[in-house]
Amino acid sequence: MLTAYKYKLRPNESQAHQIDEWLNLLRMQYNYRLGQRFDWYESTRCPINSCSLVSCSIAEVVEQPDYYWQKRDLLNTKKLFPEYGEIHSQVLQDCVARVKKSFDRYLTKNKSGKRSGKPRFKGRGRYHSFTYPQIKQDCIENNRIALPKIGKVKIILHRPIPDGFKIKTAQVVRNADGYHAILTLQDDSVPAISPDVNLDNSVGIDMGLKDFLITSDGDTVPIPQFARKSEKRKKLLNKSVSRKKKGSNRRRKTVKKLSKHHQKIARQRKDFHYKTSQKLLDKYDVVGFEDLNIKGLAKTRMSKSILDAGWGEFLSILQTKAANAGLMAIAVNPKGTTQNCSNCGTHVPKTIADRWHSCPSCGLELDRDVNAAINIKNIAVGRTVVKAQDTPYAIAGFTEKPALYA
Ligand SMILES: [Zn+2]
Repeated sequence: MLTAYKYKLRPNESQAHQIDEWLNLLRMQYNYRLGQRFDWYESTRCPINSCSLVSCSIAEVVEQPDYYWQKRDLLNTKKLFPEYGEIHSQVLQDCVARVKKSFDRYLTKNKSGKRSGKPRFKGRGRYHSFTYPQIKQDCIENNRIALPKIGKVKIILHRPIPDGFKIKTAQVVRNADGYHAILTLQDDSVPAISPDVNLDNSVGIDMGLKDFLITSDGDTVPIPQFARKSEKRKKLLNKSVSRKKKGSNRRRKTVKKLSKHHQKIARQRKDFHYKTSQKLLDKYDVVGFEDLNIKGLAKTRMSKSILDAGWGEFLSILQTKAANAGLMAIAVNPKGTTQNCSNCGTHVPKTIADRWHSCPSCGLELDRDVNAAINIKNIAVGRTVVKAQDTPYAIAGFTEKPALYA
């Protein structure tokens, strides 16, 4: 199992200066390597069915600057610019690996058939982190972390590294409020256990706009409107930034204030997501949720409140937390969950405005979201509600058609 812990770093003045220096050098290296790739890509590309012989000269054959080529070429960089020799070599190589990653994402489709946008050159102050792809197990000692070539940096260990976990990588990040270290931890000993799924230990959740979520037991969790509450301050700060002259010290200060404000909202939200998932997993072993197309939803008018509520982040936290605890979070196909009756399976059409589910065939009266949540739970545990009127044998308790009805 892989997990990541984030700790605050308190580097002294010279260490902080060194980190800033590295970030700037790495930023320039990143831009240079990205440029190399763009150049090669542009100069060797030609239409698939024709290569123009008239209007362009045939380009010189250049070796493709792939990851390994660029990694070898770092030697030349170090010769030309000795300051790069000060950077830990694996950190420098990781910078080249990042170029490869963003370029690959741009050229090839991912699992869901989408490509990322064209990688961008990073302006001053827009390169925020570097990574040690390998780090010693005993790098943390007496509230200090030994970062190769930087030295022992004070680290605030607000929680211990869990027993049995190995530190795989260390990333140093510069945020609006200082420096952090993100450690990736691995534990191979965690066995993959899964609970047995039944109706008693599971719950279905329906994500909504009125409430953040509603469970199949009828409990609601209201939407925390952090972003909207602090919208006023955000607006104020934004205005204040735009009033100030570009490049001025006062503008820089206000931008910093603004980014700290954004960070605060993000952290409040994350905290809420962690606490909500913990509460669910304390109570239930299996949580079923709708497999929503969150990006598709966010493009519609409702975008503001959806992004405020941050369903995507919540669901991924829920899944990770469940997996770590040996519990389960199951994504189910949301088709029919709002329209069908959770008791008898009858299709009961509703518009968005209809908040109540009232079934004409079995007489079930229920809040529409609770009805949906129960449907989600049923799908998650694999219990399908069949339409009673179509299959009389279902009422008799048969799951398959008995010979009697053939
Ligand atoms: Zn019904």
